[in-house]
Order: sequence, then C-alpha cells, then structure tokens
Amino acid sequence: MSNSPQESRYSRQSRFAPLGEAGQRKIRAARVAVVGVGALGSVEAELLARAGVGTLRLIDRDFVEWSNLQRQFLFDESDAAEALPKAVAAARRLAKVNSEVAVEPMVADLTPANIEDLFEDIDLILDGTDNFETRFLINDYAVREEIPWIYGAAVASYGLKLAIVPGRSACLRCVYPEAAGGAQPTCETEGVLAPITATIAALEVGDALKILAVGADSVTTRLTTVDVWTGEIRQMQPPSRDPECPCCGLRQFPFLSGARRAPISLCGRNAVQIHERSRPLDLKDLAARLGRVAPVRANEFALRAVIEAYELTVFPDGRAIIKGTTDTGVARSLYARYVGV
Ligand SMILES: [Zn+2]
Repeated sequence: MSNSPQESRYSRQSRFAPLGEAGQRKIRAARVAVVGVGALGSVEAELLARAGVGTLRLIDRDFVEWSNLQRQFLFDESDAAEALPKAVAAARRLAKVNSEVAVEPMVADLTPANIEDLFEDIDLILDGTDNFETRFLINDYAVREEIPWIYGAAVASYGLKLAIVPGRSACLRCVYPEAAGGAQPTCETEGVLAPITATIAALEVGDALKILAVGADSVTTRLTTVDVWTGEIRQMQPPSRDPECPCCGLRQFPFLSGARRAPISLCGRNAVQIHERSRPLDLKDLAARLGRVAPVRANEFALRAVIEAYELTVFPDGRAIIKGTTDTGVARSLYARYVGV
C-alpha cells in the first residue's frame, strides 16, 4: 500500500468495491458542471472536489451575502463582507481543499446565449439552481446533447432529487410539462434549513459519482423526496417517459432557442421590466408570502414590495417592474427568488 499523498488521498473512496480504482480513474478524468453555487451547489462542489473530479466548472451570477452563510458551505464571513462572486469565492476555497482539481469559476447567468460555451466538453451537469426557467434550459440542452444531469430542489424542510439520463429515463418535462403557475414557495419567503439542502446535494453527488465511475445506465431514476423536519423519506417509481413529451419525445427545445424565455427590457432610467409570462398570479397569496420578509402594499391591480435596495412591482398577469437596477440578471434573480418561477 502506498503512502504517497497523491495515492492515499482517494484511498477510502477507491477501496469501496463498486467504485474501485477503475472508477476513481474515470472520476479523475471527468468534467462536471455545477449550475448555481448556493446552498445545493456549494455542497455539491465541495463533495465533487474532495472526490477528485478532474474539472469542475462552477456557474453562478450572484455574490455572497450574509444570509447565505447559514447554509452555503465554502463561504465565510470575509466573502460576505467583500461581497465576492460565489463562483470565485468557491473556487478559492476549493483550491485549498484539493489543488489537483481544475476549478473553473464562471460568473455568469446561464442563458440560451452562453449555454453552448459554458457546457462545452462537460460530461455531467448538477442542478444547484433555484428556478424552473434555468432547469428547463438545462433539460433542453442535456436531452439534445444526451448528457446526464441531476435535478435537485429544496425549500423549507423539504427537498427532492431526480437523476435524468436522456434516452433512458423521463426528462424534466416528462415530469413537469410546464413550470407550476402562480406564485411559488421560495427560500426567501418560506425559509430553508441547511440540513435539507445538504441532504439533497449529497444525494445528487451520490448519483454523480456512480454515473462517472460506473456509467449513466447504473444510476437509479427513482424520484427521492426527503423532509428533515417530519423525518419522512420517500422513493417513488421512476416517472415514465412521455412519448409526447415536447422535449425528449418530440425533440423541440424552445428554452434552448430562447423562445420560452420571459422577455425582459430596460424600463426608464433605473428599472427593468419582466414582461407578461402567461402565468396569472394571485396577488393576495403573493402578498402573504412576501409580507413575511418585506414591506408590501397590494391591491387587485398591483403589488409593491421593497426588497433591499429594490422596489418590486408585480401585476396580476405575472409582469413585473424592478426599480433600482439596470441589470437584467439582477432583475431575473429577484423575480425568481421572491415571486418564484
Ligand atoms: Zn421528456
């Protein structure tokens, strides 16, 4: 048995027989993208770096905030004080955790315009995002390119995980043909516990290691749900593939072409408008959710909330105006976090 640091580093992992030395070599050669380096993505990135994934591409457009530290591993108080980009802060930390891993921080919002570049040469994609618009975009790309990806989500004390292996298992749109309508619970309005995000991230990485070491056909495609507050853990039969699925059945990729992206435009000197999304909102319901975290005024025509330095005005047809920024990415992010998509 060798005691060289390079060989002993992964010894406990490669000694696990189903993974083995051969699996470890595959993990070392793999290129993995993590989209969103928040509560899910930061745990995914750390586990993958420690496991020795060859290249880790971290895609995130946000900056570290104090409210992240309760659940977002990899970040510390100095990152929040400096408001470092999450991708950069994560890469700095991971360089100390495992210098053998090539970590590529990408400070970017994943969009139809940049997805080809950001996913170039990637073998596997892990979901660390917080919104369905980005997940449907990932799903379109993964199905078209036949790359496995792992969907994960968490809010409050509850989360779920589903590995998607194009050509073999149901894709995200087989399971959710459309994003749910109306205002959705988000971590901003409902809160979220670190044990659930860490659990879901760990389940995603478990699948990731198996896919990389053994192959995409080896991984379970059951849907797993966990609630760390009630203690309930469930596994559901793999959702069946829908032959009429617009994505994996009919091979239409509207999210990839940008056709399904909510139009967005600058609106006045210091505001951004997100246009009608064909998703009627119940403003009373949204006011109740947002009222827990921000001052809100609402009537049947509009809802107005003051969030940090921004003023968010939402209309019943789903349209919104975000005052206080000219950055469309910031506007999208606020919409996703507080209204939900
Ligand atoms: Zn499908």
